[in-house]
Amino acid sequence: MGKTTFTRREIIKQGSIALTALALPFPLTAFTKYNTMTDNNNFDVIIIGGSYSGLSAAMALGRALRNVLVIDSGLPCNQQTPHSHNFITQDGEKPLVIAEKAKKQVFKYDTVKFINDLAVGGKKTEDGFVITTKNNETFITKKLIFATGVKDIMPQIKGFSECWGISVIHCPYCHGYEVKTEKTGILANGDFAFHYAQLIRNWTKELTIFTNGKSTLTQEQTDKIRKHNIPIIEKEIAYLKHENGNVQQVVFKENSTFDLKAIYSRPAFEQHCKIPELLGCELTEQGYIKVDMFQKTTIANVFACGDNTSPMRSVVNAVATGSLVGAVTNNLMTEEEF
Ligand SMILES: Cc1cc2nc3c(=O)[nH]c(=O)nc-3n(C[C@H](O)[C@H](O)[C@H](O)COP(=O)(O)OP(=O)(O)OC[C@H]3O[C@@H](n4cnc5c(N)ncnc54)[C@H](O)[C@@H]3O)c2cc1C
Repeated sequence: MGKTTFTRREIIKQGSIALTALALPFPLTAFTKYNTMTDNNNFDVIIIGGSYSGLSAAMALGRALRNVLVIDSGLPCNQQTPHSHNFITQDGEKPLVIAEKAKKQVFKYDTVKFINDLAVGGKKTEDGFVITTKNNETFITKKLIFATGVKDIMPQIKGFSECWGISVIHCPYCHGYEVKTEKTGILANGDFAFHYAQLIRNWTKELTIFTNGKSTLTQEQTDKIRKHNIPIIEKEIAYLKHENGNVQQVVFKENSTFDLKAIYSRPAFEQHCKIPELLGCELTEQGYIKVDMFQKTTIANVFACGDNTSPMRSVVNAVATGSLVGAVTNNLMTEEEF
């Protein structure tokens, strides 16, 4: 056997790779990574987005013997939240751990390849689609699935983004139990504030609405909210005082403060990936990718699943719609091939 010699730099590099591998919950070799030098770039299905919904679709398709590529840029929407709840078998687990477990299971199928990259372009061709990436890779596919999630747009309130997913929460089913009976705020206005007041009152009676400016609640909504002793504060907010993302106070522009432990808020969002729109996929009025009950978009052979298609924002819904889209895509292909 030939003798291999290493430079000092190579030894350090190999050592740090080994240490990184040790820190991961499973070995790096468990991944069927796409090899840009040797692998064919032609796939039955490309899934853009490799978080919960994309991985779930990949599992269904990989097990259906489809030749699948998952392209993922590694930025799931829940990355800042310490624990994920309300998904049986994974309740209270760290979001990253759930995703890593899923990757370990999905990428053990040699039918599924994975590449860490950002899809930046998509074009319809005669037999399918061509996808290009930030790293200048080009892939060809017959069917396309968008599992790309949404991007939350943080409001211009200092402290908000630091608390997002930790003590500023979007969903009571995900995090309400952990702050039940605590002094809680609803940072919202109009119909949304009314809806949240009705809902969150089930988790805590220590509730205050912050409209951050003039209230747009109707008189009828205001009367109902007052009947339940929920104060409505219209003062403009300067910032959220917090420690490591745990909110302590709302500080108003006129310098007064309000102590609390949690805030519910649902910021505006946009599609994380613009390729569906480039391909002509219609969006709903709320900004979701329009799909039918089988997760088919308005463009033939293009599917979507997870947060990008639905306000029912949860890991379990992402996994369910991903699994459905995998089966529907495979079913369409079997019909075409038969
Ligand atoms: C702060 C917060 C806390 C939450 N807590 C809970 C909870 O406790 N329990 C619960 O059930 N749900 C929770 N959710 C909701 C849950 O996280 C989402 O419903 C779920 O992550 C949606 O999965 P997804 O696969 O559709 O999208 P995401 O998980 O957002 O993943 C989308 C993936 O697509 C990739 N991507 C996007 N565009 C491209 C592109 N062009 N090229 C390549 N890759 C791309 C992104 O990098 C990302 O990896 C929480 C959400 C938030 C925001």
